[in-house]
Amino acid sequence: MNAGPAPATVAVVGGGIAGFSAVRELRRRGYAGTLQLIDPDGLPYDRPPLSKAFLAGTLDLPQLELAPRGWYADNAVEVVTDTAVKLDAGHGTPALTLASGGQLRADAVLLAAGARARRLPLPGMDLPGVLTLRSAADALALRQRLFPGAHLVIIGAGLVGAETASTARALGAAVTMVDPAYLPFERAAGPDMARYLHGLHAAHGTAYLQDTPAAIVAGAGDDALTVVLAAGAALPATTVLVSVGSEPETALAEEAGLQVHDGILVDGSGATSQPGIFAAGDSSRLRNSDGTPGRRFEHWDAARRTGEAAAAGILGVEPPQAAPDWFWSDRYGIHLEMAGSMAGPGRTVLRGEPGPGFMVFRVSPAGTLAGVAAVDGGTAVRAARKLIESGRAVDPAQLQDPAADLRKMARGKS
Ligand SMILES: Cc1cc2nc3c(=O)[nH]c(=O)nc-3n(C[C@H](O)[C@H](O)[C@H](O)COP(=O)(O)OP(=O)(O)OC[C@H]3O[C@@H](n4cnc5c(N)ncnc54)[C@H](O)[C@@H]3O)c2cc1C
Repeated sequence: MNAGPAPATVAVVGGGIAGFSAVRELRRRGYAGTLQLIDPDGLPYDRPPLSKAFLAGTLDLPQLELAPRGWYADNAVEVVTDTAVKLDAGHGTPALTLASGGQLRADAVLLAAGARARRLPLPGMDLPGVLTLRSAADALALRQRLFPGAHLVIIGAGLVGAETASTARALGAAVTMVDPAYLPFERAAGPDMARYLHGLHAAHGTAYLQDTPAAIVAGAGDDALTVVLAAGAALPATTVLVSVGSEPETALAEEAGLQVHDGILVDGSGATSQPGIFAAGDSSRLRNSDGTPGRRFEHWDAARRTGEAAAAGILGVEPPQAAPDWFWSDRYGIHLEMAGSMAGPGRTVLRGEPGPGFMVFRVSPAGTLAGVAAVDGGTAVRAARKLIESGRAVDPAQLQDPAADLRKMARGKS
């Protein structure tokens, strides 16, 4: 990759972890040009706590912020509290129109507008008391409805749904979760870990129903709701959380004629199909080397990494090497981490018993480590990530042995 002259001005749309990581990385790499970060919410804040400590009320908004307030002035990053409503791809000099009516021209634009919570095509989605969870405002609205005597019905048992169930139980609300899957999280964590995680719901008093909602109907007032299920059951609720995944924010890119396929298509440096325009985070999707769309990641570390890669792309230098995928989830007092892939071909190796310290490994047919999932095992997962990255053959007997040190195995010293 040949570094040409750095763009004189860079505008970043979206102040989530992807947009913030990009501006931090640009300055870290010595970029000295004009840097603007546009977000209707103003200062960048973090989303994972929205279903955990922030929803529980043990973290406040300033504690969610991704950098101390002085950081932006110290690093000459102008935070523009506004919404980008139009992108004109130009011919290498893109321009943004803002909701306030202003225009912003930049030599490089990074699209990092994230994703929005998916809604269901059901009657009743717009009723007061039927909520989604994506922003701090969403979390505050949900929090004030969670207390002893409240009944939360959660549609969707993925990461956000399961974490919200855990937090709502801790706040004293009754919780029923509905999902068509028999064993949610099976693909992400493997069946053994998924079974353990699933069992935590019942152990903490969250009712789980394998079904599909047919409708959400109102009773009397916004806290007297009924969720009707496909099989006919009617669940009473004071609040309904629809937590059925997210949809990438691609409208600006589509209108500007960029290639989009359930995510703005990018290469490993965040470059889109238009010169001078980059994308990162939940709104982006990596294009495979043969041009076909790859997987769209929807978690924090991927957003951070793609933000940093796009910063390198904007400067015309090599992006950091791709690392194995990694994400975490916290629920019912346990901390879960996963790295690599648990879904590919191969065999499963278990270490320990379901509970704290439990680890599940996925070993590829070639004998290398493909994926890991662990309960309360952050250090071991860090070592396992290095093993995945190394492509070194692993000994299943050692993986299984709680006394075998994964850090030594990662250093090739077992
Ligand atoms: C409740 C919750 C819990 C989560 N927990 C975990 C977890 O435990 N582990 C994990 O790995 N991941 C977790 N995630 C996922 C992780 O938070 C996301 O993958 C990450 O936030 C994506 O970062 P992003 O910067 O791409 O997008 P976002 O965080 O969505 O940020 C995008 C920003 O763009 C702004 N924006 C949108 N449109 C415009 C526009 N037109 N103009 C200007 N600005 C705009 C938005 O206001 C927003 O601030 C969680 C997500 C949620 C919602």
